[in-house]
Amino acid sequence: MKSGQVATEMAARYFRLFVNRLAYTVQSHRPGDRGKHYYYRPRDGRRLSQEAVRAHLNGQITIGIYALNPKTQRSKWVAIDADYDNALDDLLKLQWELRRDGVEAALEKSRRGAHLWILCEKPLLARDCRIYIYNLALRLKVPVKGGAGLADGIEVFPRQDELRPEEFGNAIRGPLGIHRGAHKRYWFYGADYKIEAQLNYLERLKRITEPEMQHFIAGLDMPQEFRPRPKIELPPFDPNRREFRILDFVPAKRRRSGNYWTRCPSCAAQGKDKAGDNLAISVADPRKYKCWAGCTREMIRSALGKPISVRSAS
Ligand SMILES: [Zn+2]
Repeated sequence: MKSGQVATEMAARYFRLFVNRLAYTVQSHRPGDRGKHYYYRPRDGRRLSQEAVRAHLNGQITIGIYALNPKTQRSKWVAIDADYDNALDDLLKLQWELRRDGVEAALEKSRRGAHLWILCEKPLLARDCRIYIYNLALRLKVPVKGGAGLADGIEVFPRQDELRPEEFGNAIRGPLGIHRGAHKRYWFYGADYKIEAQLNYLERLKRITEPEMQHFIAGLDMPQEFRPRPKIELPPFDPNRREFRILDFVPAKRRRSGNYWTRCPSCAAQGKDKAGDNLAISVADPRKYKCWAGCTREMIRSALGKPISVRSAS
């Protein structure tokens, strides 16, 4: 073993912590369009080996790991990816709230933001993990990407509740790998910036057990707004077109992470939203808005005296 090289034993420990299935992706060494370094599944269908993990830890390759094993629909971890303005604030909020549940989540830097990793004692059902995190995000008003068409927000891995046998779901950069574009290794904040210290730290974290997860999600379901639904294609946004614009009716109070935040008219009509920040309106496309307390578009439009007509979907 060359000096400074990661031992096979450490690759084995990493494998135990993070590898859910043997399919994986590798980040391209050369950038593709827009300068991005994309991840690809090895063309020969090669399976993830401890040697590949070792090469990842040594910085020779960078692997992406899958969250969900379709044989079990379970994962050893939940990763929350956030890369917008204020992303770190939101992840720290989640980390703090998880801690109140007795869960120690590890924060790892990323190129534009950070990843928050939560480890499970034994692999847990992806569906349960997702119900837990989405409800937590909703409670803390942490924006979720794609929820109500919000462009900015956290992304939760596993991204699916279940996969069919031939599906892969989504991979995320394996922790401690060197980003091919940034030529940088992103460390966990919680330990010395050495591979062994980082592994020791990760192994010492308090992991979620199955009974704990059952307790956390008792009585909870996936919040309505995060359930899969048919995609409605909006025509390109044209600011000159005459159509309903929520910003004609509510003031754009605060601007944060790609959205305006203001009082939800439907909540207000019910004497709620005293803080005046339940409604998120996409800055890029103000036709997209969402109440974090769960009011539907129909409720918001009627509260404004502009009910959605039966025939138009806008
Ligand atoms: Zn509301």
